[in-house]
Amino acid sequence: MSAEVSGATDAPGAAGAASRGIFPAELLDRCISCGFCLPACPTYALSKDEKSSPRGRITLMRALETGVLDDDDPTLREESSFCLGCRACEPVCPAGVQYGELLEHWRSSQWQGRRRPPLARVLTNVVVRNWLVRRLGTFRGHARTATVAPQGPHLMLGCFERALFPGVSRAARRLRPELDCPADQGCCGALHAHNGDLELGREMARRLGEQLPGTIVTTAGGCAAHLTGVLGRDRVEEFSEYLVGRSASDGSLSVGELRVDGRRARVALQDSCHLRNGMDVWRQPRELIAAVADHVELPGAARCCGSAGTYSLLRPKDSRRVLAPKLDQIEAAGVDYVVVVNPGCQRQLVGGLRRRRSRVRVLHLTELLAAAQDGGLPRRRLRLPARPRRAQVPADEPAGLAAHLNDRPLPDDPGASGAGRPDAL
Ligand code: SF4
Ligand code: SF4
Repeated sequence: MSAEVSGATDAPGAAGAASRGIFPAELLDRCISCGFCLPACPTYALSKDEKSSPRGRITLMRALETGVLDDDDPTLREESSFCLGCRACEPVCPAGVQYGELLEHWRSSQWQGRRRPPLARVLTNVVVRNWLVRRLGTFRGHARTATVAPQGPHLMLGCFERALFPGVSRAARRLRPELDCPADQGCCGALHAHNGDLELGREMARRLGEQLPGTIVTTAGGCAAHLTGVLGRDRVEEFSEYLVGRSASDGSLSVGELRVDGRRARVALQDSCHLRNGMDVWRQPRELIAAVADHVELPGAARCCGSAGTYSLLRPKDSRRVLAPKLDQIEAAGVDYVVVVNPGCQRQLVGGLRRRRSRVRVLHLTELLAAAQDGGLPRRRLRLPARPRRAQVPADEPAGLAAHLNDRPLPDDPGASGAGRPDAL
């Protein structure tokens, strides 16, 4: 690395000196280098290195903006890629730094042209083509309707959710039949925005906003946060938010109890990072789970599972390092199901728990609720070969974080990623 990275020595306003116009100055200047975000950051927990913390990365962005580091600097390349983009640094930041937006600008600058990872190029090239997106999951039978109500509400079909988990949109429509779900809708562009093509990502969100006028309801936390950033909060509702809101107003949610082996099922939630950190939606899925089963709060539910969009494909080893303590927690919690609210998390946890031959099954929230409404899930879904439980995770998780911190003085953990908030439920 060609420049010393020390967030504590970088004064706000450094970006203004010789701006290259890569970052909006008002975003970059906001960081006061206090370090409150460090305990919340999963990559800092792994590396114990300031460069891999939010504060360190903002210092790197400032060095890029002022020309202290050039575009090809290997540390810039590595750190823009190593960051999960989970935005756990945002809710704990006293200065209101919008790190997720900074990262999008950073990657757009870093990953232009030849520097973009080839796999990211392939994936973004697939979902930009509407005719290809329409074919994703065609034979697996995701939800679809012929109608487009002028003011919605419309159910958005996430690109990969169509193909990988078509039952999620079917369950959503069983629960809320008023949601129309046109099959020819395009991609929201979150994949582009998070993978170095911010402008195209925003343009795709605007186009989807025109295709689906009025309220857009999504079952994918990452898509919800991206659409919200472009179209505005009033246009977008994540499914649990929508369901809780409608059920409170018309009392229409009628679900039974989910039972396993004659007892009430034990169900944990894995938060979606963007949903929780970007949209402050975390209470609603917990309320819905508690309506049909015993909700078990995982100690690290708010921390990233390592899926992080394309991260698990681009950096599989790091992704599994982030995932491992979460799988320990899930197995130690003695739950029957772990529920997700984002297809990336679903894929990540299904893969991780399968590799361990765990008995714990992964369901999207819509699938859990639809099963409760229908009188339960087929028992075979719980009959997998048992495997001895791994060592219990200490109660003071997340992820043994204190053990990973380097010797830099840190402020008290202000509640990493709002980890204490579920207690208020
Ligand atoms: S908490 Fe916010 S202001 Fe403080 S170092 Fe982190 S990003 Fe900067
Ligand atoms: S987005 Fe996540 S991984 Fe990246 S700096 Fe923030 S907390 Fe760390």
